Amino acid sequence: MQHQITRSCLEKDDSAILHKRAFMGKMCGMSEAQYSDNWRIIGHEWAIRHITRSLNADRLRHAYLISGVARIGKTTFARAFAQAVNCQSAAARPCGACRACQLTAQGNYADFTLIEAQGGSLKIEQIREMTRVLSLRPVEGRYRVLILRRFQEASTQAMDALLKTLEEPPPYVLLLLTADTTESLLATIKSRCQPLNLRPLPTQVIREALVNRHNSEPERAALIAQLSGGRMGWALEVLRDDSVLEQRAEWLDLLERALGESRAARFDHARALSEDRVSLPTLLALWQSYWRDALLLAHHTAAAAITNRDRRHALEQIARSVKTEETYQALLAVRRTLRYLQANVNARLALDALMLDLPHLRLIAAP
Ligand SMILES: [Zn+2]
Repeated sequence: MQHQITRSCLEKDDSAILHKRAFMGKMCGMSEAQYSDNWRIIGHEWAIRHITRSLNADRLRHAYLISGVARIGKTTFARAFAQAVNCQSAAARPCGACRACQLTAQGNYADFTLIEAQGGSLKIEQIREMTRVLSLRPVEGRYRVLILRRFQEASTQAMDALLKTLEEPPPYVLLLLTADTTESLLATIKSRCQPLNLRPLPTQVIREALVNRHNSEPERAALIAQLSGGRMGWALEVLRDDSVLEQRAEWLDLLERALGESRAARFDHARALSEDRVSLPTLLALWQSYWRDALLLAHHTAAAAITNRDRRHALEQIARSVKTEETYQALLAVRRTLRYLQANVNARLALDALMLDLPHLRLIAAP
């Protein structure tokens, strides 16, 4: 009996609230706000449309697992998602201008928290913070949004703690996990989250964004876009920080010079490079893309398809003067060296072997 009374009171309250809301809407001459798919971010349109549809149909899930390669824009996406759910605009949400949208963008909104794995894993204090945040009702928004960044680095302990929340999430909670890869995540976590796998953006989309939104010079934008592998976050980082492109130019200069040098000079390079083992995977990935470009040109692929477009002059010489089989062997040798390093083979020996496998060719500088 007690239960029935309470329930009927609640129903009465609910209908009163709905009635009041409709009345207020009419008074202000506006209809209920719609969620818009204009999130003011570059790319990932399908994922934005998916979320917008769920929001407009009132079918939002409590947890999403946003995955995709590093620097592709997962956190940017998650932040825009957080703006959409708590936006105060009476028109199209997210508006980007209201208090909730602005404070969320700055990371200062009371109902928005971003927790990030530090030094390889989520710490116990961070798990406690996470549990505390999720137990609180929103202060001013519709949802309490928690972004858990780099969740692939969370410890099993952290995943277990999260699992408890995912089993019975409070209705006001929206959890956004981001992860470069999802293989290390517990299957029970993956099954309780809606997956959103962000894919690399087309090169052209990145190039246009760099030019039109970030005032980049077109040729520089084209190079960065081509090198980005479709990762907007990476492209923006490189646009702001010259050192990445400078280091790249240095490593490519060294490779091109070594092609025309003696065995002894090549071994000197191997010795010097082996002293910075941490950088070697990046260096070898770069050289790998260089030999892939040379192979593409040897097969008469359009020059527009190559990654290292600023090295076209040298690459075309290689394509003309080096046998295709030798170019292919150079590519395989770089890949093999990468594998050796992963297997902890002595870096100096691995690089010495690589130097012997590169073709001999004196490149003529670009006019
Ligand atoms: Zn807003």
